[in-house]
Parts: sequence; structure tokens; C-alpha cells
Amino acid sequence: MSSSTSKVPGIPGLSARRQEMLAKLGIFSEEDLIGFFPRDYEDWTKPKPIAELQPNEIETFIACVEGKPVIRHKGRMSILKTTLKDPYGFRIFATWFNQPYYQDKLVPGQSYLLRGKIRRNGFVTEIVNPIFEIFNEGEQAGIKPVYRLTAGLTQGVIRRLVAHALQSALPGITDCLPDEIRKKYTLCSAGYAYEKIHTPQNSEEFDIARRRLAFEELFMIQAGLRLVKSTVMRKGQASALLGDKAMLADFYKGLPFVLTDSQQNVVNEILHDISQEVPMNRLIQGDVGSGKTVIAAAAAYICLKNGMQATLMAPTSVLANQHYATMTKFLPEYESRIALLTGNVTGKKRKEVLAGTENGSIQLLIGTHAVLEDTVKFTRLALAITDEQHRFGVKQRSRLGKSDEISPHVLVMSATPIPRTLGFVLYGDLDISTVRGLPGGRVPIDTYTSSSADDPRVFRLIDRQIDEGRQVYIVCPMIEATMESDLVSVKELYEDMKNTVFAHRRVGLLHGAMNAKEKTAVMDEFMSGRTDILVSTTVIEVGVDNPNASIMLIQNAERFGLAQLHQLRGRIGRGTYKSICILRSDNDQEQVRDRLKTLCRHSDGFVIAEKDLALRGMGDFFGTRQHGIPEMKIANLYRDTELLEESKEAVASIFDRDPLLESPGNRTIVPHIRKQFGGLLDNVGI
Ligand code: ADP
Ligand code: MG
Repeated sequence: MSSSTSKVPGIPGLSARRQEMLAKLGIFSEEDLIGFFPRDYEDWTKPKPIAELQPNEIETFIACVEGKPVIRHKGRMSILKTTLKDPYGFRIFATWFNQPYYQDKLVPGQSYLLRGKIRRNGFVTEIVNPIFEIFNEGEQAGIKPVYRLTAGLTQGVIRRLVAHALQSALPGITDCLPDEIRKKYTLCSAGYAYEKIHTPQNSEEFDIARRRLAFEELFMIQAGLRLVKSTVMRKGQASALLGDKAMLADFYKGLPFVLTDSQQNVVNEILHDISQEVPMNRLIQGDVGSGKTVIAAAAAYICLKNGMQATLMAPTSVLANQHYATMTKFLPEYESRIALLTGNVTGKKRKEVLAGTENGSIQLLIGTHAVLEDTVKFTRLALAITDEQHRFGVKQRSRLGKSDEISPHVLVMSATPIPRTLGFVLYGDLDISTVRGLPGGRVPIDTYTSSSADDPRVFRLIDRQIDEGRQVYIVCPMIEATMESDLVSVKELYEDMKNTVFAHRRVGLLHGAMNAKEKTAVMDEFMSGRTDILVSTTVIEVGVDNPNASIMLIQNAERFGLAQLHQLRGRIGRGTYKSICILRSDNDQEQVRDRLKTLCRHSDGFVIAEKDLALRGMGDFFGTRQHGIPEMKIANLYRDTELLEESKEAVASIFDRDPLLESPGNRTIVPHIRKQFGGLLDNVGI
């Protein structure tokens, strides 16, 4: 929920130490406690007689303490023991380690509800470290929430804090969903939902609460993006960029190919958008290799022809360099007015680029995030293009839309295939154009699996391709969180290839820990054909375009997601040559083999993305945070399809009538949007 700073005295009556622990869980206030949903539940509703307890199971039972618990000490350890008896006369022996203070809590003659893992020792039933609470006759034991913990906090503590917060803060919470929406979609009140999500008495109550909260979450995310769209992104006026057929015909004449119908359609959509004074906010979605760059070039061309400035941003310097080369090729008459700005452009050159951007002599500035820095001042920026947008979030997008007088038209390109139903959640602030299929004349990539036993054959194949003048990628997996070992493996592989198998070839090395200058040099060598084989990590995953590369060998293919493998293999098959992708893995698991076979069989990124999602779930695939969208706490973008539809409809019904959420009934939604997006919308200005 809210993310107040730790300076704010958060939860009344708590020690600073405890507040600190809670802060680690993102809890700073009672409201946060209420919004700290359980990760699971324990069913305490069906206590069993001791005689029916199953060994090695976690069980719940009611029993009475027989005698005063005895404490022993063994070194620094304390051991507390007692016997409990149930109403049928069966006994269980309980032991607690290092919990001496339970001695006074376990009162002989008193009944307790206990829960823990049962052990059977001959005829003796035992339990170690059970959790327990006083049980009063006639009372109903409930379903208990299980929370995420951090060192020093126990379930008991969090349960008590949440219960207390529910009591003291819940009455003050207003419902963030307008009444009409709640009625229409039969959603329970916020108060009921928050109470029952923590303490459902049965599964119906849980379902009702969860449905409401998941709906709310999906609603707020979509409403947030809609609000960004209708306020920030649409704020101000854009320059109407006029381009007629004749103007574009000139552009097309200079291209080495003819646009496909699908590319043409997208160009037309963009032309229409940018001819308006309402800023464009459009996403071009298209599989790797579908030819999005040339579409961006067409838009830039119109912009430049209108005497205005454009910028093209890429997530990596390698890609920025490549775009620079492509754009100067596609827009030859503007060659001197196109400049590159990356972290690598320094000193005098950088000064020149900054000055040229400010005085307008540079009309198309291509670069990395560097383009977003404050030192970069455009005089008449009319078009901002970002490539591979999954690396840029909502915040960056809107940062672009926030120039003072005129807002630029914004064009975003993405090769991350998003299943249709999800597009509107992830890109709710954008209009979407899709480039379908791949440009004609492209020979489909053949994909095979291999293992180390096939290496000699694979290496001969590579050798033959190089003999024919082709180039090769050998890709090493990116091992998460251990940059060091990743580096070692790619370097080792490089040394190995260079010194043994391919000693007679020119081998290059590319990895993420190299600086921009080194990377650019290596890429230049490869692009110009001066290296035959490029050994690389996944830094080449995004957008690199060398049509002469016809073969890719991917090491430890099992370590990659399918969508990522598909992205990687999109680096080949970009020219007219027959291309081959080899997925090398020594993993024999059927599941792994099946996954890799999916890639051999399918070439459509959308199909592969869907299979990948089905196999891996959405967690690591999406990284919604990368899209600038908050993590889902309770909704599931894949399973809650019905709720998605309903919430989408609800958001539309509200925004169609009240696009800025100004009516008193809707005004209350805004703070909840802000809360849900947390820092992600800072500086966005809603
Ligand atoms: P992506 O959509 O992955 O960014 P690119 O824009 O890099 O794809 O295009 C991939 C390759 O296809 C490039 O070499 C590009 O010049 C080429 N290309 C684009 N459009 C066409 C077309 N209509 N016909 C032939 N080749 C094309
Ligand atoms: Mg691209």
C-alpha cells in the first residue's frame, strides 16, 4: 500500500526494532498491514482426536495440559516438556526447544488448540515445537493466515499486528471502487474484503474477498495507465507532422527493399497519428525480424522533412550504434544531421552533439538512456522513438512526453510478444499497431537440438558455413546473479574456440561487462565481416542485425526461457541465406527436451510466448516491473481472465464519461492509483 518513509512514526505502540523488521516487508503503517495479504492459510477448523493423528503430517488437535511443564538445560539450549491429553484419554508428548517462557503459558488443566508435525515413536505420539493457543469450550477454531516473514518476526506477531490493525484502521477505510461498479460486478465492500482476506472462516468467504481485491488491483492498474494516457501523455500539443504520399515515395525509393503490406499499414497508422496535434502514443509490436526499424525510419523521415527533431532510443549502446548505421543508410540525405549519443561519446564530440541538438542542426539524435539526461536539450523535438521498450517503463515514457510547450509524438517498438488479452494491461497507456509476419524472401530458420556428442558434426557445419563466407554466433547463457561465473564461462569458451577448434578462424568476444567502447569495436569487427565467429553472452539478444550471420550455436540452451531463445535466434535468418540455430544441451530431462523441441517446431513468437507462459508461469517471463507496472499482489494476469475482462470494461465505462476522473464519485480513485503504483509514477504528475 502506501510507501511512507521510515521517518514517519508508522505503527503506534511498536518498538523501533520491530518497525524496522516490518519495514523490510514493506510495511510502514497500519494500512500497509491491512494490505499485507497472506501468502497462504492454515486450516485449523478440523481438529482431530490424538488417536487419529498421522505421523509426518502437520495436524491440528485439541488437548489439555496434564502437569506443569518441566524445563531442562543442555548447554545453552533449554528443553521444555509436557504431556497433553485429549477428551478421549489419548496422550501426546510435546517438546519445545529454546522457548522457556512457554512454561508459564502452558497451564495444567487448561485446553489448548495445537498444531505441528506429528511423530510416532513406537506407541508414543510426539510433537516438537507445536504452535498453540488457548482453546475455550464451544469456540470455533478458524482458518489462519500465513504471512511472508523476515528474520525476527513470527507468524504469531504478524497475525496479532494485522488483527489489531484491522480493528483500529479498517473502519476508517473508504471504498475505492465507485458504488455503481461494485453493484454491477457484485463485488463485496472493501471492509469485508480486507477483513476476510486475513481471516476467512471458509472458502466462500475467501473467494468473495479475493475476487473483490483482485478486481480492485486490475482496475487500479488499468485506470492508472488510462490516466497517464489521458493526462500526461496527452498533455500539451504536439506538432502536426504532415507527410503525403509523394514525400514517402521518395523515402521508399531509397530503400533496398519494398515494404510488406503489414509494414505499410503500420506506417499509415503512424502517419495519421502524427499529422494530429494530439500527441501520438503508439506501440509497434512485431516479432523479431519483422522489420520495425524501417517503420521508425519512415516516421523519422516525415519528422525531419517537416524541419523538426526526432530521437531514437535503444536499450544498449550496441543497438544504438547499429541504429545509427541503419538510419544514416535509410535517410542518406540527412546523414550530416543525424548524431549518436551514448555514454561512450565524450569530450569534444559530446559537446558538439549537445550543441547541435540545442541549436537544431542535429535533427535525429540516436542513443541510449543518455538521451534522457537533462543536459540534452532539443529545440523542437516532435518525435520520440524507443526501441525494445520492455527496457523502458511507464515513467521513462512519460518523461519524454513532458517537454514544456510541445509534447513529442511517442513511438515505442517491442519484440516481446504479449498475448492479446494482456496487451491492454501492460500497454494501457498506448495504442497498439502490430506488424504481422516476416518480410518476404526470408528463408525460415531451421532449429535443431544437439548435445556434446554432436559437437564434431556441429563444428564441421560451422566451418563449412564460414567457408561459404557466412558468420556465426556462439551464445553462452547468462547465469543469474553471478556475473563473475558468467564472465568466466564466456571467456573460457572464447579461449577454447579460438585456440583449439577454430584456431584457423577469426573469433571475437562480446559480453556485458565490457565497456561501451570495447563492445562497439567488437560489433564493428563482426558487422564488417572481419570476425567469423562471435562468442557472446545474451548482450546480442536485442536487435543486433547482421544479415550475413547464418548460424547460431546456443550453449546450455536449457538455461534460457523459450521467449528468450526465440529472441536470440532472431539474430540470424535476417538475410537471404538459409540459417540454422542449434540448441545445445546435455540435459536429458524429458521436460527440457520438450521445451527445446517447441522451438524447433514453431517460428511464431506469439505462439512461443504463450507456450513459454504455460510452462513457466508469468513471474519471470513478464517482469511487470520492467513495464513500469506494479507487481500484482493478488491478481493473476493469466488465470484471472474473466476479472481482467470485467475490470477492463469497468475502467472503460468510467473513463469514457470522465477521462480525467474529475467527478466527485471518481476523484477518490486517484489516490488509490497512486498508492498502487508507488514510486513508479513519481514525477509523472498525476
Ligand atoms: P526488428 O523488427 O526485429 O527490429 P529489423 O527492423 O531489424 O527487425 O529488420 C530485420 C531485417 O529485415 C533488417 O535487415 C531489415 O533491413 C530487413 N527488412 C525490413 N523490412 C523488409 C522488407 N520489407 N523486405 C526485406 N527486408 C526487410
Ligand atoms: Mg529491432
